[in-house]
Parts: sequence; structure tokens; C-alpha cells
Amino acid sequence: MLPDNSKSHTRRKFINKVSAVALGSMLFGSYANARQDKKREVMNTKRTAGKLGIALVGLGKYSGGQLAPALQETEHCFLAGIVTGTPEKAKDWKSKYDIPDGNIYNYENFASIKDNPAIDIIYVVLPNALHAEYVIKAAAAGKHVICEKPMAINVEECDRMIDACKKTGVMLSIGYRLHFEPHTQEMIRLSKDKVVGKVKKIIAKDGMSKVEGWRLNKALAGGGPLMDVGIYCVQGACYVSGMDPIAVKAKEGPKTKPEMFRDIEQSLSWEMEFPDGTIAACESSYAEDMNLLHVDAEKGWFELSPAYSYRGITGKTSEGKIDLPGVTQQAGQMDDFAMAIKDKRATPVPGEMGRRDLKILMAIYKAMDSGQRVEIS
Ligand code: NDP
Repeated sequence: MLPDNSKSHTRRKFINKVSAVALGSMLFGSYANARQDKKREVMNTKRTAGKLGIALVGLGKYSGGQLAPALQETEHCFLAGIVTGTPEKAKDWKSKYDIPDGNIYNYENFASIKDNPAIDIIYVVLPNALHAEYVIKAAAAGKHVICEKPMAINVEECDRMIDACKKTGVMLSIGYRLHFEPHTQEMIRLSKDKVVGKVKKIIAKDGMSKVEGWRLNKALAGGGPLMDVGIYCVQGACYVSGMDPIAVKAKEGPKTKPEMFRDIEQSLSWEMEFPDGTIAACESSYAEDMNLLHVDAEKGWFELSPAYSYRGITGKTSEGKIDLPGVTQQAGQMDDFAMAIKDKRATPVPGEMGRRDLKILMAIYKAMDSGQRVEIS
């Protein structure tokens, strides 16, 4: 039997051995970590090289479900940062998209984003009534801005947003993703080239039967389905006709759930009158799923159904099918904006287009409330 001291000697030897192993594995661990960090840095540099950094403001359904995934496909911009009021989301997004701590902001420290050269573009994806405030703050921070549709909840806000961006020399665009979608482009071409004759009538419908949260609150949404999805009909009628409407008429639909739609419309129908006499008959609803852009021309017709979805847009004409590939619209939209900034050219979906649409939306509400034809100057 070994004496006690030799026992402790053995234990010391054992401890030393264990310590050496621990130290070795610690050293190896830190070496491995450093290698991992280096690898990540190289990967990130490769992933982001030459690209503009985008920060998404408001990590809701659209940011999480569409924009962040699309930013994994973009070639000219990447997801560099986030602005959120929800710390758990910041944690999730940080690990999911490898976002550095320094590029994570909340609504209180938002202004300090001005000192962050990694962020070139701020993308405002908040409830409609918060768009103006954050676009103006983004412009003050010297960042280019994308603002989700509808641009704001009234024309006066649009004016302030456009002025703020002009003042600091940043570009402003609206999240009108369909302008970067091939079937939509084909509808515009068919109309412009009068492929089946001159356009006579446009029918546009967009509605969804499920709605919740801030969309039911007029103070945050600015209105009902017209502001949220009906805006796609307004857009569709304008891009297909290639004109802005001169007057509108509108009628509110019945409220089957008055307790839910207290201060917003549940559905409505309206007509837009264009300078050459073309009429667009439109419908929008929070009670019914609808998704159509149909055009009657002198010698035939063409349509998309669905016309405004993220995926699966399908088209046909009186002559046959519109056979085009599907694309990630949001990737095309954000890449085009990044290229417009780099090339110092205008965006096809500027703040002025968002403002024009707000003017039309406000005229439609005025026509709906008054029952009168409202002219748009
Ligand atoms: P969500 O309700 O899913 O997300 C909005 C996010 O805004 C919230 O998750 C929250 O993010 C943040 N937020 C800050 N303040 C508020 C508040 N007072 N109430 C509610 N949310 C708040 O909305 P969506 O993502 O569906 O819509 C956001 C915007 O994007 C809207 O303007 C909408 O019209 C537009 N949109 C555009 C689409 C398109 O196809 N172009 C499609 C869908 C929406 P956080 O917790 O991170 O602070």
C-alpha cells in the first residue's frame, strides 16, 4: 500500500496530466474557434463583398417570411442589420443570419445607425402609420430608404418623407415588388404594344378572408383592405394603362362582422377613370380571397390570376398561356434598388409613385364616404 504522500503525488501527477490535457484542449479549442471565426469572416466577406448592407426595421411576418429569405439570394445587397423592439427576435435573427451585435438596433437607439458604415439602406417594414416617422429618421441618419406599401397613411406624410430624403440626398423607394416580376412586365408590354388592340377595360380584385392585429386598427393601418391589398389593384390599373387616373367613384361593401371592422371598411368596390376613357373596375375585401388583374382590349384579353402573390403568378391571354418563370420578386426589387444607388440612377418605384398612390387611395375613400365622383388633380 502506498504511503499517503505518494498517493497525493500520484493525484498531483494525475491532476497535472488532466490539466495538460485540459490546457491542450483549451488551446486547441481556442485555435479551432479562431479558425472557425476566421472561416466565418472569410465566408462573410465573400458573401457581402461589393454588396450594400440592408437593415430591416420591424421583424414581423413580411420581414421574416419574405425579405430575409430573399436577402439570401440577392447579388447586390445583403442582410447587414436589424431594428426590432423585441429582444427575443434580435437573439433569433442574430444566430439565424449571423448578424453582428453592432448591427442590431431597437427603436430607442435607432438614430445611432448613422454612425454605422455597414448599413447603407434602411428598409421600413412597420405598420403603415409608422412608415413616415422611420423613413424620416432613416433619411436623417443619411441612409437610403425602402419603405413598404402603402407609403404612408396620407399624402401630407408622403410629402414630408420625400422632402426629408431630398434634403439629405438619399434615395427613397417603395416596396412595389411586382415591378420586378416577369408576368407583370408582360402585362405591361401587352398593353403598351397593343398586342390585342388598345386597352378598353381593366378589372382588378385583391382580397383576403383572414386578417388580424394592427390591420384592423385604423390608427395604425390608415384604413382597411383598400390600404393593405386594394393598393395592388390601384397599382395594377396604373401600370397596365400606363396612365394616372383622373377621377374615381367608390362604394363601401356590407359589413358582415361590424364588431371587427368598427372604423375601417370590410370591403369596397371602386372605379378609376383614365384620361383616354379607359375604366378600371376594382374590388378589395377582408371577407373574401380574390386575386385578379384582367384586361379587355379591342381584339382580345389578357390576365393574371393570381396576379399579386409572392409565388405562382399565372397568366393567359385570348391567344394562349403566358409562359414565364417565377422569380423571387423581393430579391429583384432589393437588388434593383442597390444597383440604382451604385449606378446613381433613378429607381422605377420611387417615393413619388407611393405618393401618387396615396393620392388615389385618399380620393377613393372620399368618393366612398361622399357617394360622389371625385376628381384627382
Ligand atoms: P407584422 O404585424 O407581421 O409585423 C410588423 C412588425 O412591426 C412587428 O412584428 C414589430 O416588429 C413591428 N412593430 C413596431 N411597432 C409596432 C406596433 N405598434 N404594432 C405592431 N407591430 C409593430 O406586419 P407585416 O410584416 O405583415 O407588415 C409590415 C409592413 O409591410 C406593412 O406596411 C405592410 O403593408 C407591408 N407588407 C408588404 C407586403 C408586400 O408584399 N410588399 C406584404 C406584407 C406586408 P418588432 O417586434 O421587430 O419590433
